[in-house]
Amino acid sequence: MTLIDPGTALDAARLEFREDLLDAGLLIGSASAGIYGRSATFEAILAGLDRVLTEMAAPLAAIAVRFPPVYPRADFERTDYIASFPDLAGVVSSFEAGDREHRELLAAREEGRAWDGWLTPSDVVLTNAICHPLYATLEGRLPAGGAVYDVLGWGFRHEPSADPMRLQSFRMHEFVYVGDPQGAQEYRDTWLDRAVETLQSLGLPVTAVPANDPFFGRAGRMLVSAQLRENLKIELTVPIYGDLHEGTAIASANCQRDHLTAAFGIRTADGETAHASCLAFGMERTTLALLRVHGLDVGSWPAEVRSRLGL
Ligand code: AMP
Ligand code: ZN
Repeated sequence: MTLIDPGTALDAARLEFREDLLDAGLLIGSASAGIYGRSATFEAILAGLDRVLTEMAAPLAAIAVRFPPVYPRADFERTDYIASFPDLAGVVSSFEAGDREHRELLAAREEGRAWDGWLTPSDVVLTNAICHPLYATLEGRLPAGGAVYDVLGWGFRHEPSADPMRLQSFRMHEFVYVGDPQGAQEYRDTWLDRAVETLQSLGLPVTAVPANDPFFGRAGRMLVSAQLRENLKIELTVPIYGDLHEGTAIASANCQRDHLTAAFGIRTADGETAHASCLAFGMERTTLALLRVHGLDVGSWPAEVRSRLGL
């Protein structure tokens, strides 16, 4: 009997998928792990997927809003992200000193020494979840019956990896409900089912599983068990590496309860603290899952899938 070391075999499978994507020109490599360019074909798949998701969500009559990939550090502060995921966060630093310090920086750079010590963290951070800048705009009372928002944008997570499914910079399309607690729970459950149907209709073999987020440190381990115990977050996973891995999350449906709404002072029409739920699709991950399942040659994909995606 041959014993396969699953760690090594999984790493090899990830590297092979990455190489295949680079060779096919679908992704364009860079000097940093998890930072890629995307080809026109890759973007066409992603845009088709985005149309399918937008059509799926049409009955929600969601209010569409778009935010840049950075947002105010004061709002980041209120999300508590630095407490739970310090290792994934990114603060934008820039140069705020004078001529003398600039000369010192240049001298250090000339000598091949580190120059980033002359930079100072600015008042903006990279957006980690595209719903965070949204919550920051909703302070105050919501309309009766709550509201649903459609948010699409770039997220940053500092998790460099050789796995092409794990990027440092990627897009999320989220459909976010804010309203009363019962509405938030019902929304999560209903739209989780709709998401499963929609992804399956594109040929993706998705499974819904309870999520355990990579909360940092000892306090983080307690948050993981609470998340699992209270069934707060469900992920939709696709087996990308066969039996070597339990599957990669391409989307998630998350009951935030009042975690962010309380921090941002968002209240229902009755004046109670609102609850929120969000349905988030990882746009690159779902595109990559389509390429994994249907093959890297889009021309040979099932006709029905191509027509749904406008390819
Ligand atoms: P989360 O807020 O962690 O549930 O993330 C929402 C979705 O974004 C996930 O379901 C993934 O599809 C996607 N995602 C999260 N982290 C990454 C990453 N490092 N690279 C690519 N996609 C990601
Ligand atoms: Zn969200």
